Amino acid sequence: MYDVIVAGAGPAGLTVAGKLSKRGIRTLLIEKDRIGKTEKAWGGFLSQLKEESLDDTILNLTTHLKYTHYLGAEIVVNGDFVTIDSKKLLLKLKKRINKKKCTLIENCELISFNRDKKNKTIALNTNKGQYTSRLLVDTTGYKSMIAKSYGLNKKIKYLQCMGYEFHGQEINEKEAILSEIAFPTPHKTWFWVEPLSKTSAWIGTMNIVEKPLPKEVIEEELNKFIRLKDIKDRRKNRKYGLIPIGETYRSYFDNILLVGDSAAQALPHGFFGLIPAIRNAKIAAKVAEESINQKRTDERFLKRYQKRWVKKIKTNYAILSIVNKLNTLMNDIELNEYLKTVSGFKSDIHLKGIKLELTKNQIRSLFLQIIIKRPLLIFRLLSKAKTRDKIKIIIKSIGALI
Ligand SMILES: Cc1cc2nc3c(=O)[nH]c(=O)nc-3n(C[C@H](O)[C@H](O)[C@H](O)COP(=O)(O)OP(=O)(O)OC[C@H]3O[C@@H](n4cnc5c(N)ncnc54)[C@H](O)[C@@H]3O)c2cc1C
Repeated sequence: MYDVIVAGAGPAGLTVAGKLSKRGIRTLLIEKDRIGKTEKAWGGFLSQLKEESLDDTILNLTTHLKYTHYLGAEIVVNGDFVTIDSKKLLLKLKKRINKKKCTLIENCELISFNRDKKNKTIALNTNKGQYTSRLLVDTTGYKSMIAKSYGLNKKIKYLQCMGYEFHGQEINEKEAILSEIAFPTPHKTWFWVEPLSKTSAWIGTMNIVEKPLPKEVIEEELNKFIRLKDIKDRRKNRKYGLIPIGETYRSYFDNILLVGDSAAQALPHGFFGLIPAIRNAKIAAKVAEESINQKRTDERFLKRYQKRWVKKIKTNYAILSIVNKLNTLMNDIELNEYLKTVSGFKSDIHLKGIKLELTKNQIRSLFLQIIIKRPLLIFRLLSKAKTRDKIKIIIKSIGALI
């Protein structure tokens, strides 16, 4: 019997296992694959990686990054955006685990679980047998069967991402653009270009979906972009996956904590998912330690985890403070197409996102800019929004104007 079982060895799981094992908690970490293998491509802010002492895992520094926020603001980042070597990052996190306190089992897949209410334990059934602990930290990502079994995934939307490594490209690092709405496509696809070296880059797509689109459909959208941009098509090494976005949903139950993508802690609460997964994993590890030491694994006790990470988002995740001006460079046709794309998104999710990401003054200034420069957008948001949200939008607009 273990104190804590961590299921899934992505960034969140490895961080939880690292912290718990260092604090002497008997931990088991199971991973359905091999550690270090991931189908994801990561980019992020150098300053944030430095905070986690992970800045030596970067592949490339992009000196200039420009992307368009879903409400129309153009975000410019100078000198801080980097592309990460995902394998290196995962192996570095693995090294932080104290092997004396943490058992690590690879190729071990969590299949189902049973809670023993009387003994306050949880048994995990895997392809390698059954393991029991007092607490389960679920970090199995967007396909989490734990999240599904509690019906958490029903409210969620996904950012469906696909990308390829393209070689033989001349990439001007200084002008690398992470994501752009290049042109209208039937599936409202966003495109991202992330340099890997001077002659190679990740080029990929992002779609906000309730149900994943068939991979062939996305591939076709990517092909159009490749043709339009006249990119030499020597692609290899596909990256693919879904990032859950939208509602902040419950991340604690009796004997269970959910962290990272399995708790939908990525957009719009932070900037993508890697850093939120690592930061929230540290909070989860602290709560797990308290829970084991105080012999309290009931949900009333574990609720503090949710409270802490939500609080942290509000104060620390003000990444969008770099929102500095609206994109005034689009012509009328581009703007119209852009508005069509934005208006297709569900407005309450955006409002929630803005509320969590920006400080009051920033919200005020963003709304002011939108009202002045994009009245049509406000009109479209209003026509799409529920009555409750309509009132919020109006109040915020008035608040920004006075
Ligand atoms: C194509 C793509 C590009 C992305 N780009 C960025 C980016 O540029 N920047 C950024 O910050 N974020 C990016 N993200 C999002 C980021 O990858 C995730 O938010 C982050 O990986 C979440 O970490 P996690 O540990 O919660 O989950 P994951 O990284 O998904 O890790 C889950 C782990 O659990 C394992 N697992 C799954 N099921 C089971 C099971 N049943 N039993 C045992 N183990 C299991 C998996 O094999 C995996 O190792 C991208 C995602 C994708 C798909």
